[in-house]
Amino acid sequence: MTRLLYYEDSHIRSFDAVVTSCRKAGEDYEVTLSETAFFPEGGGQSADTGMLGGTAVKYTFEREGEVIHRTASPLTVGEEVHGEIDWEKRFRNMQNHTAEHIISGIVHRRHGFSNVGFHMGEEGVIVDFDGFITPEELADIEREANRIVTENHAVMAYFPSQEELGSIDYRSKLDLKENVRLVVIEDVDVCACCAPHVRHTGEIGVIKIFESGRRKGGVRLRMLAGGAAYEDYVRRFQNSMRISALLSAKQEDLAAAVERLLAERDKLSYELGGARREIIAAKVAGLEPRAGNLLFFEPSYGVDELRLLVNSALPRCGGICGAFAGEDGHGYRYVLASRAVNMRAVAKDINTALSGRGGGTPEMITGTLSAARAEIEKYFESEAVT
Ligand SMILES: [Zn+2]
Repeated sequence: MTRLLYYEDSHIRSFDAVVTSCRKAGEDYEVTLSETAFFPEGGGQSADTGMLGGTAVKYTFEREGEVIHRTASPLTVGEEVHGEIDWEKRFRNMQNHTAEHIISGIVHRRHGFSNVGFHMGEEGVIVDFDGFITPEELADIEREANRIVTENHAVMAYFPSQEELGSIDYRSKLDLKENVRLVVIEDVDVCACCAPHVRHTGEIGVIKIFESGRRKGGVRLRMLAGGAAYEDYVRRFQNSMRISALLSAKQEDLAAAVERLLAERDKLSYELGGARREIIAAKVAGLEPRAGNLLFFEPSYGVDELRLLVNSALPRCGGICGAFAGEDGHGYRYVLASRAVNMRAVAKDINTALSGRGGGTPEMITGTLSAARAEIEKYFESEAVT
């Protein structure tokens, strides 16, 4: 059996060990060692990666009780090799994981809810609880968690005997009976867990809960701790600085500045709508009635304005009246109507001829085309009115 160094000391980053087996597995090799500090994926914590005997350890996993190192190159059985884990990744995993134990411990004590799902990935730590917690309660839980960090409680892990285990109150996701490893955060939490953790809560750094949402009668949280939380803070700060410069507003006043901007946009949009309605009325008022088709190209019109233009011009058009918004290369949005032609009946022909899609009623169809303006004009044998 491999000696599991990560259980003896979670802070061992490098070690020497003898290769006990090596076999080819697809593109890679599967290596076992006399001892290892590489933690295999488990308990919601991702696998360690790093270097072993000069080759990369891409992944570590457990199979039938053995820790398997997936390496890029083969290693010689019987030879001693030097191993080095990607410490930054491991330490961040431990910061996030111990932070999750603190949060789950507080939730269990205060609300009686259990952690029923746990995943650590690129986007942070995802934790599911089997009961709902309000945002106000979560803010208070987060405050207590950060106090526990600064109080620097000791974190220990051990395998209690069966008799001991029976007398200990601990949280557990699975109904384990044998070989239970307990992770104890002194005066805070006891939980069955197979992963390495920090030695003291002070190593975790800040704990931040970002999102909470209802899920299957409970709540799902996304949180970050330590180095990952710090980097997230830097990203958010830089983003907030950019917005602050763009809006010429202090960072703490950004929400109010955006509210003003949106109100201004709504006002302008309302005024633009009124001006366009006037332009449409004037455009149509000067039109001579005609027997054939009638087209308009208005690059920036919305579909409501296209529809208004077509409806306004329709009494002066004996054929098909069409309005198009967009430009060559990006395609056109169209509204086509007629009092003489059944539009639904000709929709397929139009869409096929002009590489488009859309439909509607016998009176009016709407959709999009990717054909160029010249092709559209040729198809309808009509030059646009401007
Ligand atoms: Zn755990």
